[in-house]
Amino acid sequence: MGLDDIKRRIAAAEERAGRAPGSVTLIAVSKVQPEDRVTAVLNAGHRVFGENYVQEAQGKWPGWRDRYPGVDLHMIGPLQSNKAKAAVELFDAIHTLDRMTLARKLAQQIGQGGRSPQLFIQINTGDEPQKAGILADELPVFLSSCRDFGLSPQGLMCIPPEDQDPLPHFRLLRRLAQDHGLPNLSMGMSADFETAIAEGATHVRVGSAIFGARDYG
Ligand SMILES: *Cc1c(COP(=O)(O)O)cnc(C)c1O
Repeated sequence: MGLDDIKRRIAAAEERAGRAPGSVTLIAVSKVQPEDRVTAVLNAGHRVFGENYVQEAQGKWPGWRDRYPGVDLHMIGPLQSNKAKAAVELFDAIHTLDRMTLARKLAQQIGQGGRSPQLFIQINTGDEPQKAGILADELPVFLSSCRDFGLSPQGLMCIPPEDQDPLPHFRLLRRLAQDHGLPNLSMGMSADFETAIAEGATHVRVGSAIFGARDYG
């Protein structure tokens, strides 16, 4: 289990960047991981987790939440509009608000249900046709539509293109967040979370470096 090592590396990266200790939230990405690896991290006292699939999370987390009070659960995968209701009920934060239809759906559910997860808008910083997220240029209009629906997103999220240096993508995300007064930045994964922290990440999403490789077989 790599939890302690990752926590140490985050603390060192915060210090190098001149940032306050504890200013970065570590989201342990537990998708597809076997139960014993996740409970080991829960037993070590960690409580912030990320999942990619609503159905998988619905199967695992209600039971773990009963046994481990204080879990903070983040949705980091693509969210289908027909799963918006389940997602609002289950998650404390949604990092993948990436289109108007989803914004409308989430606003309806939040209006009805009383629960109000923290929201991040996903930006397709690499302008990749196959990737979710709105384009940087579209952010002003998207944000004002969200606000018209009654939502108040508090951050931005990105997944840089796999084959590129992530640094310019992190910088773009930071600049966009600054321009729009959004305090939270969800960026950085196992391979690049230290770079993301140097660029201002408030939330890093680390899976395999904590739990080991995912086995999709
Ligand atoms: C799976 C996933 C992660 C974690 O990836 P690792 O490389 O295992 O750290 C982070 N963010 C998103 C959006 C993911 O889907």
